[in-house]
Amino acid sequence: MPDVVQVEPITTARLLRGPFDYVRPEGAQVGSVLVVPFAGRDVVGVVTGLAERSEHELATPRRVLEHSLPDDLVALAPWMAAEYCSTVARALALMLPPKGARPRSVLHARTLREPGADERLTTRQRELLASLPRAAGKDLGGLRRLEARGLVAIEPAGVRRAPVHATVGARSGREPPVLSADQARALEQVAAAEPGERLLLHGVTGAGKTEVYLRAARRALDAGRGVLVLVPEIALTPQIVSRFRERFGDLVAVLHSALAPGERYDEWQRLRTGRALIAVGPRSAVFAPLERIGLIVVDEEHDASYKHEGDPRYDSRLVAERRAADHGAVLVAGSATPRAESWAGLRRVSMPTRVDGARLPPVEVLDLRGVRGTLHPRAHEALVDARKAIVLLNRRGWSNYLTCASCGRAWECPSCDVTLVLHQARGMLACHHCGHRERVPSRCPGCGSVSVSRHGTGTERLEGELPGPVFRLDGDAARPAEVLAAFERAERGILLGTQLVAKGHDFPDVELGVVVDADQTLRFPDFRAEERTFALVAQLAGRAGRGGSAGRVLVQTAAPDAPAIVHAARHDAEGFLAGELERRRELRYPPFSTLIRIVASSPRPGAAAAAALALREALPGALGPAPLFRLRGRERSQVVVKAADRAAAVAAVGLAVEHVAGDRAHRGVALSVDVDPQ
Ligand code: ADP
Ligand code: ZN
Ligand code: ZN
Repeated sequence: MPDVVQVEPITTARLLRGPFDYVRPEGAQVGSVLVVPFAGRDVVGVVTGLAERSEHELATPRRVLEHSLPDDLVALAPWMAAEYCSTVARALALMLPPKGARPRSVLHARTLREPGADERLTTRQRELLASLPRAAGKDLGGLRRLEARGLVAIEPAGVRRAPVHATVGARSGREPPVLSADQARALEQVAAAEPGERLLLHGVTGAGKTEVYLRAARRALDAGRGVLVLVPEIALTPQIVSRFRERFGDLVAVLHSALAPGERYDEWQRLRTGRALIAVGPRSAVFAPLERIGLIVVDEEHDASYKHEGDPRYDSRLVAERRAADHGAVLVAGSATPRAESWAGLRRVSMPTRVDGARLPPVEVLDLRGVRGTLHPRAHEALVDARKAIVLLNRRGWSNYLTCASCGRAWECPSCDVTLVLHQARGMLACHHCGHRERVPSRCPGCGSVSVSRHGTGTERLEGELPGPVFRLDGDAARPAEVLAAFERAERGILLGTQLVAKGHDFPDVELGVVVDADQTLRFPDFRAEERTFALVAQLAGRAGRGGSAGRVLVQTAAPDAPAIVHAARHDAEGFLAGELERRRELRYPPFSTLIRIVASSPRPGAAAAAALALREALPGALGPAPLFRLRGRERSQVVVKAADRAAAVAAVGLAVEHVAGDRAHRGVALSVDVDPQ
C-alpha cells in the first residue's frame, strides 16, 4: 500500500518542477484533488502518482476535496504541457471544475420509526411527521426535537443547481425526422468507423448535420459509451444544445463559462459520476470528465474559437483527436467550409445536398472599384426589396479612425499603436485591443483645429444607412441570443453584424445575404486569410434561402478575382481547398509544416526586440525577429519557426524559451509560445 502521493500544485509558475511528495491521506488516488501546504500557503493540487516511499520529509495535505479527475485527464496533462510548451499544472487547471464552487447540500428529514401507541405527541408534531420526507428548512426546530426522540433522521442531501438550459428544450417526445439519403449514408459511415478514426463530415449548409450527430450519439449511448459535443459558442448556437436536450433530456450536461460556478460544478459532477453521459459545450468542454467516450463531435470545425488564447494555447480540435485516440472514440468534425488541414488529414464523408432539397442560393459578386459609399447601388436596391436579410460587416463602431483635417494627426490609443474607433452612440473613442476609452474630441490637441475627419464605416454607422428595421449583432450588442430571437420573430428586417451573423443560425425565411467588405479578411497578413474569407462568404451564403424561401447572396469586393471569392460564389469548397492546399504545399505552410510563434513582450524599450533576437539565435532557421504593434503599453516582437518535424521543433522551442527566460539580461520580458497560431 503506497503511503506517498505525488501532487502537482496548481500554480501558474513556469519554472516549478513538480510533482511534490506528500503523506497519502485516507482514500486518495491518482486524480484526487487535495488542498496542500505549499510554499507557505494552502493551494489546490492534483494527485498525479503514488509512491511507496519518499526521500523527503513529508507534509500532510489539509483536505481531500469532493471531486476528482479521471485517470485519462491526469495522463493528458503532461501531453498538453509538452505539446504547447506549457506546464502540467496549467494544463490540469483547465480540467478542474470551477474554483471555489462546492456541492450544495440542504438538510433533508425523513421518518425513522413510527411513534409507539403510548408516545405523547402534539397535533403539531403529528402534522410534522405526516409531512415527511421533505427538505428540513421549514420548522427545523420542531424536527430537531423529534430527531432527539429518535423519530426522525435529518441528513444533508445534495441538490443540483440546474442551468437554464435544463429547463428549456426538455425532452419533447417528438419523433425524430426520417433521414435524408445523405444523412443515412453519413450515419452508416460514422457507425462503420474504426475506434479512434477521424472523419470530416463535409455537408453543405442546411444538409442536416445535427441530425447525424444526434443519431450517432444515440448509437454510442446504446453501446454503453459517452458522447462529447463541441460547439463554437453556446450563446450563438443555442439550437444545437436544445436539440440534444430535446432528444436526450437529463443525460445531457451543458458546460460553459456563462453558467454560475455552482451550476457548472454540478454539471461537471453529473458527468464525472455517470449521471450525465453527453457533454455539450464550447472549447473548454473538451476536458469534460467523461469515461469511455465513444463519439466526439466537433461542430463547425473551422471556427476560430476552438483555439484558446491563454497559456497553454491549446487547440481543442487537436485535444479532441487525442482524447478520441485514448478512448477509442470516433471523431466527427463537421463543417460546410472545413479547414485545409482537416480536408487533407481526415476521412471525408460528404453530404452534398440540403435536407429540404433546396438549391444553395445564387451568389453574385459586386465589384466595388469605382463605387462611392459603403453599399453598391445594387445591394441597396436588393435590401429595399427583401423582406428579411442578413448583412455582414466585420467592423464594430461608427468609423475606424479619426484624423485632424488640418494637421493630419490621427487619434491613437495611448497604450497600443493602433487607431481608436469611434462609437458615436456612446460618445466615445475606444481601443479594440485594450479597452481604453476617451471622450470624442471636439478639437485637435495638436493644432486646435475643430475639423475632424472620420474614415471608414463600421456596423454602427451602416445601421443608419440601411433601409428598414435593423437588428444589430456585434461585440457591442448586450445579449446576442435576444437579438437573434427578435430577428427570428420579426416579419421583416435586417440582421446586421460582424462575423457573429454568419455562425450556423438556422432561420427559415432569410431571402438575402450581403457581405459588405469581403476584402477585409483577405487583407489580413496571415496565411489563413484566404481560408477565412472563403468560410465567411460561404457561411453567410448558407444562412439564406432556407426553409423553402428563395434566397440570394451579394458579395461586395474590390478583388472579384481572388480565389476565395470566386470559389465561394460557386459554393465550391472542394475546388477552393484543392487550390489552397496546392498553394500551401508550395509555400510550405500547414498542413505541410508546423508553425510555432514566440512573442516577447516588455514595457521596457528595446527589451522585447533584444529577447526575440536571442531567441532567433538559439533557433537556427527561425524567421524574425519582427516587431509587432505595441499592446497595453508593452513593446512586442515575434519569432516564427516553420518546421517539418513537429515534436522536435516544439522541444527545441521549449529549450530556447527556457534559455532566454533564464538569462538575466532578459529579465522581465514575458515570452509566450503559440503552437499552430491562428
Ligand atoms: P447544417 O448544420 O448541416 O447546416 P442543420 O442540422 O441545422 O443543418 O439542419 C437544417 C434544418 O433541417 C434544421 O431546421 C433541421 O431541423 C432540419 N432537418 C434536419 N434533418 C431533417 C430531416 N431528415 N427531415 C426534415 N428536416 C430535417
Ligand atoms: Zn490638428
Ligand atoms: Zn489600446
